[in-house]
Amino acid sequence: MEFNTKTIHGGQSPDKAYGSVMPPIYQTSTYSQTTPGGHKGYEYSRTHNPTRNALENSFASIENGNYGLAFGSGLAAIDAVIKLLKPGDEVISTNDLYGGTYRLFTKVFENFNVKFHFVRMEDVNLIESHINNRTKLIWVETPTNPMLNIIDIKAISKISKQNNILFAVDNTFATPYLQRPLDLGADIVMHSATKYLGGHSDVVMGALVVNDETLAKQLYFIQNASGAVCGPQDSFLVLRGIKTLHVRMQRHCENGRSVANFLLNHPKVERVYWPGLKSHPNHSVALQQMNDFGGMLSFTSKGNNFDAAIKVVEKLKIFTLAESLGGVESLAGHPASMTHASIPKEVREKTGVVDSLIRLSVGIEDIDDLIADLKQALDD
Ligand SMILES: *Cc1c(COP(=O)(O)O)cnc(C)c1O
Repeated sequence: MEFNTKTIHGGQSPDKAYGSVMPPIYQTSTYSQTTPGGHKGYEYSRTHNPTRNALENSFASIENGNYGLAFGSGLAAIDAVIKLLKPGDEVISTNDLYGGTYRLFTKVFENFNVKFHFVRMEDVNLIESHINNRTKLIWVETPTNPMLNIIDIKAISKISKQNNILFAVDNTFATPYLQRPLDLGADIVMHSATKYLGGHSDVVMGALVVNDETLAKQLYFIQNASGAVCGPQDSFLVLRGIKTLHVRMQRHCENGRSVANFLLNHPKVERVYWPGLKSHPNHSVALQQMNDFGGMLSFTSKGNNFDAAIKVVEKLKIFTLAESLGGVESLAGHPASMTHASIPKEVREKTGVVDSLIRLSVGIEDIDDLIADLKQALDD
């Protein structure tokens, strides 16, 4: 089955009771038994729920994996992965990381004596110097947020296999439409399904997909034991979202390209960060591992003025000033005053998060309206 068919049919079959094409929303916590243990495979909805299972099968299918798991949020999914570890274990992670992931690693799991090394992974050679016999996990985000750096998944998979280290990729920004980390050698792929998989900014959810049966069993155990599962209504919404993932992503990519080119030629714009541009420092890696380049991009303005950047995001009318990304509607954010406000200026500027940086999640509206909106906000 090809990808564009998997988004609609992957892991799905009509409901056995009445043949409904979409799985019913099994809004139930428990299931009747004829005799103790005499049930139809479902006992309690933290452990199993038919609507959630339909979604988990879809997750596995679109990521070319054997096992899918759904969680109450992206961070709950990451939390489950780190719970595979023990005190004293070490993790090597991308340095330009989603802020919530960084917070979970440093403010929660460091208290349990798990040690994290944050490494600039665009240079994969920097990873090996941090590996020792306690290194149990390499955590990669690519493209990164908000700088859109690209990290070579295949090269890291080689290092992880040589050293017998688990390798996980946060595939939220790319989605399996653009890049499939398991095919490139990762052991675990993770999503904030809140973003492109759900696609409509109406649900918070997380996903994991793996190939290995033993690893899947450990993660299912943690999913049930820790209990950060999602409900059947949200499972239904994300399953519905995934059915249009390929058509939405196609348009996100087209609009992303047009916006990147518009910004590149705008006299006030200094730099545009979009992995599809030849000028992007990791463009060649992006070409190798991605099918297209997506709708996420960031840009800076000449003069690097904090107040001028705030004015631009305030003046946008179709782009909504908001956190999050990956929905059908276009969003804009100002990392220095929003997502990265708590990081000292000197520290954030080292990774490129300067005062004038604006991040866009380019939606699937008419491209002429999007460009006119950016034009009126930037001109003036
Ligand atoms: C949003 C996001 C997360 C966290 O997911 P939630 O669903 O908000 O918990 C993790 N990684 C990336 C790249 C994200 O964009």
